[in-house]
Amino acid sequence: MIIDTHAHLDFKDYRDDIDEVIERAGEVGVEYMINVGTTVASSIKSIELAKQYEQIYASIGIHPNEASKVSGEVWSRLEALAGGNKVVAIGETGLDYYRDRSKKEDQKRLFRQHIELSLQHNLPVIIHNREASDDCLEIVREYNGKVKGVVHCFAGTVEDAEEFLTLGFHISFAGPITFPKADNLREALKAVPVERLLLETDCPFLAPQPKRGKRNEPSYLQYTIPVLAELYKLSVEDIKRVTALSAKNLFGIGTVNTKGEIAYVIRNSLYLNITSRCSNRCVFCSRETAPYVKGYYLGLKEDPTVEELIDAIGDPSGYDEVVFCGFGESTERMDVLTSVAGYLKEKGVTVRLDTNGLGDLINGRSICEELKGLIDTICISLNTNIEEDYQKLCHSEFDGKAYPALISFIKKARDNIPDVMVSIVGMPGIDVEGCRKIAEELGVRFRVREYNNVG
Ligand SMILES: [Zn+2]
Repeated sequence: MIIDTHAHLDFKDYRDDIDEVIERAGEVGVEYMINVGTTVASSIKSIELAKQYEQIYASIGIHPNEASKVSGEVWSRLEALAGGNKVVAIGETGLDYYRDRSKKEDQKRLFRQHIELSLQHNLPVIIHNREASDDCLEIVREYNGKVKGVVHCFAGTVEDAEEFLTLGFHISFAGPITFPKADNLREALKAVPVERLLLETDCPFLAPQPKRGKRNEPSYLQYTIPVLAELYKLSVEDIKRVTALSAKNLFGIGTVNTKGEIAYVIRNSLYLNITSRCSNRCVFCSRETAPYVKGYYLGLKEDPTVEELIDAIGDPSGYDEVVFCGFGESTERMDVLTSVAGYLKEKGVTVRLDTNGLGDLINGRSICEELKGLIDTICISLNTNIEEDYQKLCHSEFDGKAYPALISFIKKARDNIPDVMVSIVGMPGIDVEGCRKIAEELGVRFRVREYNNVG
């Protein structure tokens, strides 16, 4: 479940052993590779590789270093390749002011031509940017948010990363993210939500630390992924799954599972998705638009039964905790919640419930006593310290009754559940300190969740 989104296997470096290189990639779990063209000839070779190997897809483009050599005739030869059925991206394109092999004006013209071609075919662009962030961003902005794609082998600043992310781009880092001295890259990576990260080798270049200086190849992602996992405080499996889903969605390759998961692992916790119903429609929730969490699809066509949940849980003993979470509100199904939590407690598992805190209104009775002994930690979404703002953020079906009921629920939770935490989503306009004060007054723990970061 690994996708190398940037490889140059058409280069002569692989002339003698490409089959072995591809085989080794498969052995470490590389599912797909995107071979990225740098000239018309290399784009043609990329397409040939894609025809020859099921797991290879092609991107076609002319590297900015070549820009001054590109005539109208050369460009039309590239354009003619764009409709091919395994052509999934346009590039690599962009601007390279570091090597300065082509005039800036030629590079800019060629970059715009690539973007226009990508729009015609509704394909993402693969951007190469070296010391040209301002101009790259300016050109992308001319297209009013219509361009999608990835900034590959990212080497810019934190601010550059933020700008590209705002424009909807993905970002990938090659082997240098593993180099001991690459603190600047690791700093930039912090700005990139893992959902917007892609994996790449840029092979034959930029092999990761243990193979540094050698010819790179897709299987060497096995050395880069653990470094990324560490930086994101996720597991190796999490990084593979999340980045593979992003690559599949961006490039339209492979199959994406749209059967909602009911039990899913992140880090070493098991999460349970017991319903898609919720009494709130929060502005920051993507339940209805893109119900993905860390590479899992959570949209449920039907809510699972207790038996289905227990079956999906398997042996729960190895997990740090089991969490009732998902995009729905677990207290909408108190019977299922208490049955499954009871089963888990019998097995000695630590159980957490993430809730909107409106369970009393949902059920028309006080529910905290029913959770006593079944839930070890409860994490309640406070969302705001201002009663009038709650409805604007959460669009609760209980309207003005919601916030007072939420506060009273927190108090009852504190009296019945050993560990109580309230959380907010750190969005612009939220008074974090005001919320923290409420938590302190209520005598419960406080957590700020990152905006756009679930799970
Ligand atoms: Zn490249």
